[in-house]
Amino acid sequence: MVERFKPLRFSRAGIRGLKAAATVAINDRVHEMWAAGQNVYHLAFGESRFPVHPRIAEALGASAHKRSYTHPLGIPELRRAIAEYYQRRFEMDVTPEQVVVGPGSKSLIYSCLMALGEEVILPQPSWVSYAPQAHILGKPVTFVPTRPEMNYELELDVLEARIHESRHNWGNPEVFVVNSPKNPTGTVMRPETVEALAGFAREHELMVLSDEIYALTVFNSIPHVSISRFYPEGTVVFGGLSKSLPLGGWRFGTAILPPGNGGPALAHAISNIASNIWTCVTAPVQYAALVAYSGDPDIEEYIEVCRRMHTIRTRFLYQTMVRLGIPCAEPAGAFYVFPCFEKWREPLAARGVRNDQDLALYLLESYEIATLPGSAFHSAQDLCLRISSSYIDAATDERAQALLAAFQEDPDPDRFIVDHHPRLQKVAERFGEFIADLEQDVPYADHRPELAIV
Ligand code: GLU
Repeated sequence: MVERFKPLRFSRAGIRGLKAAATVAINDRVHEMWAAGQNVYHLAFGESRFPVHPRIAEALGASAHKRSYTHPLGIPELRRAIAEYYQRRFEMDVTPEQVVVGPGSKSLIYSCLMALGEEVILPQPSWVSYAPQAHILGKPVTFVPTRPEMNYELELDVLEARIHESRHNWGNPEVFVVNSPKNPTGTVMRPETVEALAGFAREHELMVLSDEIYALTVFNSIPHVSISRFYPEGTVVFGGLSKSLPLGGWRFGTAILPPGNGGPALAHAISNIASNIWTCVTAPVQYAALVAYSGDPDIEEYIEVCRRMHTIRTRFLYQTMVRLGIPCAEPAGAFYVFPCFEKWREPLAARGVRNDQDLALYLLESYEIATLPGSAFHSAQDLCLRISSSYIDAATDERAQALLAAFQEDPDPDRFIVDHHPRLQKVAERFGEFIADLEQDVPYADHRPELAIV
């Protein structure tokens, strides 16, 4: 029988069928396991763990007395600073009126999904919370599968076929969420794909929500190019301080709205939503963000140092997968790799592992490795996992601080891994044992990854 809690009675709407964000849930679980004294190699969460830059920390402290509510879209000087930052860093033609700030990019994406269009188009795989946000809003989702052999890039013929199918069934696919560098695969859309996609979106009058929160974490193999460069009038660009600067818990996100008449109308809609739900971003955080977006050369240098550390750590995980013969698209940004274990389907089934959720559980229970199943990201392929480099060997503030100091002292990628990443190396060893076990007679020594990193 279904349990009732009258008079506490849950409403319909989004709550029915809504699950916790898999990212946040596994992070909580790993922290509980650590608190209980268990060893877990935490590859399940994407959080930059490096220290807060001292000038930004100082600005937050100095702004503690800023206690008044602010305008829902952000204090004017911050919107101006962010517009100038985007002009300098991304060569985007942005005015302060186009800039909106919110408590994390999540809330701004949610507001835009609320304000715009009917049906939502999402690539498969895509980040955990886009589809649940559409679900809460009662909006249907059209999924567009992508393929590992195409580096998970969107294929226009597949996209067109899915849109056609939806329209044929009386659907109105109007809002298209894209994300590059991409969570969960770490892949980056090539500039020519971005341009082609922009042309397609314009032709089909799609509104593009472009989640570019990882824009400043690219590994420099493929440049980050925003779709707004080719389709400014139909694109909202999302960013924030959670990835390039390690400030996830500060909950600070940005949206750059389209130029022209549409932008102010959307700003008005977001302002109405914000003023009725969260009023404004925590005022001291906005004043500290002014420093983060000031273009201070020391802070820009810190963003670069963090980018290089993430690159080395993530490339190591990728190279481990390659050495072990685990199919995996090559990451070009963010902290993620997305290996697939389909070729071991039979030996996995013999161990009771029949899908990616079983696989994630099996790795946690047998190898103490926490990952997330690809299905949490609506993957079109089974037996894939998202693994993140961001937490490993940086779980405590002291370890994260020590990693930064070590890298600043000696930025050699090989030595950075060998001398300062005991747990990351252990993870490589454990994956080796896992594959050796699946293949039974292949000794791990044959798989040991080389340490040539970047
Ligand atoms: N984006 C991060 C991840 O995918 C976590 C932050 C979040 O989900 O809010 O792991």
